[in-house]
Amino acid sequence: DLAAAPIPTVIFNLPKEHELRFEVEHGETALIKLIEGNAEYFGTELLLNREYKLTGCKGAVFTWNSCKLEVSQSTKAYIANETPMMQYARVHKIMDDIRISCLSNRESGPKVIIVGPTDVGKSSISKILLGYSTRLGYAPTFVDLDPGQGSITIPGAVCASLVDKPVDIEDGLTNSLPFVQYYGHTSLDANPTLFKALVSSLATSIEKRMETNEQARVSGVIINTCGWIDGLGYEILIDSIDIFKANLIVVMDNDKLYSELNKKYTGAIKVIKLPKSGGVYLRSPIFRKKTRMSKIREYFYGISGDLCPHFTILDFKDIVVLKTGGGPAAPSSALPIGAQSVIDPLQLQEVTPSTDMIHSILAVSYTKSKQSILKSNIAGFLYVTEVNLETKKMTVLAPCPGLIPSKFLLMGTLKWLE
Ligand code: ATP
Repeated sequence: DLAAAPIPTVIFNLPKEHELRFEVEHGETALIKLIEGNAEYFGTELLLNREYKLTGCKGAVFTWNSCKLEVSQSTKAYIANETPMMQYARVHKIMDDIRISCLSNRESGPKVIIVGPTDVGKSSISKILLGYSTRLGYAPTFVDLDPGQGSITIPGAVCASLVDKPVDIEDGLTNSLPFVQYYGHTSLDANPTLFKALVSSLATSIEKRMETNEQARVSGVIINTCGWIDGLGYEILIDSIDIFKANLIVVMDNDKLYSELNKKYTGAIKVIKLPKSGGVYLRSPIFRKKTRMSKIREYFYGISGDLCPHFTILDFKDIVVLKTGGGPAAPSSALPIGAQSVIDPLQLQEVTPSTDMIHSILAVSYTKSKQSILKSNIAGFLYVTEVNLETKKMTVLAPCPGLIPSKFLLMGTLKWLE
């Protein structure tokens, strides 16, 4: 019986402070089992003798002491002995010191913001710090300010989530209860004013929570940012640091950014510099796009295809589709010299359903009033599969039936093209 034939495996013996780095293509699966010792995957401990299935990812299993791993033979993997884990653990120690000192006063716990260019391991260190914090019993708020990736929900969103256990090795952050706002674009320059407004609204909700919830205050916040660090990207970064009142800035692998931020922030705000791990993979624009698309697929179909999404037909008269900014602002080259585009980037505009909406991802707001739409949480997302102008109805895919708690749907430029 071929189906039952065991998958060939290889054993890796990892000495103390070594890691096994591996790469799994989209559509392929790697099996990893810890058979002796202790090991962790980005801060989350592997259970002994449990088989983990990983697909379409790059990563590393690290051991502080030593361990033996069984890995499916087809997995591209190698052992590395030089890792920055000791320095990463020091950041955790600084966070812990802030927590201990804020127990005796009303100050906020660590508010760590991770900054740096693309592909330096920002998301990875965020997970490691979340893992180490939750292993000590804290429940930090994780904020994802990178709409290009979508570690909490789909790309195009900016969100926060209370994390009270280490990130699941196979499923990621899916079990948390997030506060989600829909930006609707994967790039910050699409509407920076909107992005900043959403970041402010997110920070305000977190601040309120920290004022009333002792565990949230002491546990603090871990903020992951996107890798755009020049020009407008730098300005947005500074805004994010200020809006969240970060007290610990971690600069990954960029001396210039470190020097700028170190000059700008003094006193109670600590700025530290960390190297990037030699294991961090450079992801091509194509790989990134595939990852983005597979995040959207996971949202509707589940990570292992275990969800059963529903097609729903919506009558145009029962919904109001809104977008911000009135479409892309006219490029300055298209305006008379010296003139500025007059489109208010936060202005909500009603969009008449048309076939242009096909493949769009719409966010369903919880709000009952149009005015508060940019401040309220998103209930979920819909994928437009068909727009019928004759019957005045559109067909959408929803992850579960009966998801639509409000008639207000938000649209951006994000499309899902498989
Ligand atoms: P972005 O440009 O999207 O902001 P980033 O700086 O957040 O990227 P990560 O997503 O943390 O970078 O890392 C890039 C990739 O490298 C990821 O696929 C991650 O899993 C992988 N990676 C990180 N650290 C290691 C490691 N030590 N060994 C192997 N792979 C790793």
